[in-house]
Amino acid sequence: MATQPSFSFELFPPRTPEGVAKLPAVIDQLATLRPNYFSITYGAGGSEQEGTYETLVTVVKHSGAEAVPHLTCVGSTRAHIAAVLERYREAGVKRILALRGDLPATAMSPSAPGDFHFANELVRFIRETHGDAFKIEVAAYPEMHPQAPNPGADFEHFRRKVEAGADGALTQLFYNADAYFDFMERCAKAGITVPVVPGIMPITGFANTVRFCAGCGADLPRWVRLRLEQLQNDKPALLDFGVEVVTRLCGTLLRNGAPGLHFYTINQAGPTLRLWKNLALPSSN
Ligand SMILES: Cc1cc2nc3c(=O)[nH]c(=O)nc-3n(C[C@H](O)[C@H](O)[C@H](O)COP(=O)(O)OP(=O)(O)OC[C@H]3O[C@@H](n4cnc5c(N)ncnc54)[C@H](O)[C@@H]3O)c2cc1C
Repeated sequence: MATQPSFSFELFPPRTPEGVAKLPAVIDQLATLRPNYFSITYGAGGSEQEGTYETLVTVVKHSGAEAVPHLTCVGSTRAHIAAVLERYREAGVKRILALRGDLPATAMSPSAPGDFHFANELVRFIRETHGDAFKIEVAAYPEMHPQAPNPGADFEHFRRKVEAGADGALTQLFYNADAYFDFMERCAKAGITVPVVPGIMPITGFANTVRFCAGCGADLPRWVRLRLEQLQNDKPALLDFGVEVVTRLCGTLLRNGAPGLHFYTINQAGPTLRLWKNLALPSSN
């Protein structure tokens, strides 16, 4: 029996009083789509970490939906991570996105302070300390993580996360569906069968799209970049074009076996709602 696709919405802990005030309405709007869960980002190295917990509580209060905290490990001690996991368990959290996170390069060398250096170590730690109490998601990079020496090494590192006990993965944003299909072929050849859900970033501007892609090493197709550049002073036309491009991407992914979609909402309901409508997606539960 085919499993239902998984749809999830990523939020970040708001950083301003306006953002805090706006968030419940954003959650309410997105919750009408009945996603499988909301996920909430976590700042590596201290920033946003309390905000993750507060946002998690807001999600549960406002939507009753499952809330999935991201957890980064780089620079952290086992004791700190253990305390965070305990708190999540007490709060009824059932799933965690386990990540390395980003800190300055010096903090990520094997000799750097902290008990964790890569995400596979965090996955193993969660399994050792909490068994199967949490479902564990990890990150996947169809176009390779920017710090990896080559795609083969990066894939081996992904495989280690799965072998350490990950139940599934969410991908970095991409605009090139073939990169995802190539990644899935590599998974199939390696016997990796966990669901790998594409991460979808709606297009809402020229400068931010270029910046997001550059930041994570994602390919922004030349024709998309050129069209966005030309439309950058005509917001409605740019948004229409962005919805068209991302709808086509999502449609291609879902028709060809992607097990769901994870939307990077950037704490805005509008762009994700438009994509949802365009894709004629049902409520998922
Ligand atoms: C869906 C999603 C959500 C995210 N949410 C957050 C968030 O909330 N907060 C945040 O700070 N960041 C977040 N990130 C970004 C993420 O933290 C960065 O991409 C980070 O650089 C890598 O994290 P990772 O868990 O993929 O690391 P890893 O899987 O550990 O990989 C990191 C790098 O190290 C290499 N590597 C892995 N294992 C080894 C090893 N044993 N030896 C040598 N090299 C190795 C990999 O090839 C890769 O280049 C998110 C990313 C995604 C895709």
